[in-house]
Amino acid sequence: MKRTRSSRHARLTPRIETLVQLAEAYARSCSRLEDAWWERELGALIGDLLDEHNEEGLNAALDHLHSNSSRAYDMLADMIEAQCECLSIAGPGATFSVQLIALPVLAWSRFNIPSGTIPAPLLDTLRVQLQAHVLAADARVALANFLFSPDHLPQGFCPTAELTRELGEAAIHHRSVSIDPALLPESMKFLSDSRYLLGAVVVPQGQPLFRWQEKDGKRENAERNWLSQGGNAMQPLLTGCASELLLPQAYFSACRDTDRASRPFSLQASIEFLKTTLDIPAAGLRAVIAPFYEEDLVEYRVGFTQTADRQVIYGLVWPLLEAEDENSDVPAQIETLLKQHGIEQVVQLDHRFPVEFCDDCGTPLYPSPDGEIVHAEMPEEEADALPKHLH
Ligand SMILES: [Zn+2]
Repeated sequence: MKRTRSSRHARLTPRIETLVQLAEAYARSCSRLEDAWWERELGALIGDLLDEHNEEGLNAALDHLHSNSSRAYDMLADMIEAQCECLSIAGPGATFSVQLIALPVLAWSRFNIPSGTIPAPLLDTLRVQLQAHVLAADARVALANFLFSPDHLPQGFCPTAELTRELGEAAIHHRSVSIDPALLPESMKFLSDSRYLLGAVVVPQGQPLFRWQEKDGKRENAERNWLSQGGNAMQPLLTGCASELLLPQAYFSACRDTDRASRPFSLQASIEFLKTTLDIPAAGLRAVIAPFYEEDLVEYRVGFTQTADRQVIYGLVWPLLEAEDENSDVPAQIETLLKQHGIEQVVQLDHRFPVEFCDDCGTPLYPSPDGEIVHAEMPEEEADALPKHLH
């Protein structure tokens, strides 16, 4: 997945040098025909590297391009992602196109946000709703029987490509895919977080995958129907949570859209949580927004206090995404949202705070109205009700 890259430089092996050179040549191409040629060359090499599980090589090429050529970097990252989530598989009587998809949902709860194995009848209902509202009429789908937290998602390109193949084969041969929870890491617990179902959509090559590719299909209708019908079907998986579905999509763009949507969702969850826990209106809260830096700006953090005193009681991390940097209007966006949710006192600090965490519990330190970074502490009597920090 595209992400902030370190500027460390691994030495490139000759094949990874070739990968870098192909990506740079592809980035300089200015004709569709030349593009197609470079894409074939790059595609073959990326395919080999994925088959060999050369995760390190793929990342070394991206790290190298990230500091040297942003266009070649974007194009290589797009191609690697496409090859992880799209496949052609020869099946009975036809060649099939396989697309890995994610069905994202945002949730928040004072208690636990569930993840884990999905009971078979519930998975069937979700599959029926997905086929009815989101997928093209002739598409087949296999869903993994698991509600994934972000920690459970395939970590890296090669495991993603493997999952695409496994789910794609399952869809072609009408098999199911069971995920063994013992093989997955523990998920971190947050007040607000995302969850995903993962699946593969399979069609004979050249046929539409999604409902909105069909002549009478519209993306808006698919989305509306999925949010209501899919939402009802998802409800039993998220007992005790407030939740919001997103439209199922190709895996990497679904993850990116979810990361983007999860920021305002977490902000709203924080405010709702504080209102309920402290039994005060939003106007009884003050928010302090400040930028946090490593070498570059990494994220904004928001410290919450009650208006009656200056003690930071809670905090929220607002990570920067993709092309955002210190020239983006992120603080203004955060302030607008806070005000929409009823917080009247918003303080913007322009300090360059370091990205620091508590040495004891690892929780982020948040900006205070006095221009310091501090450990958030709930008032004593409410502290027991406090779940972990936010994602
Ligand atoms: Zn601590």
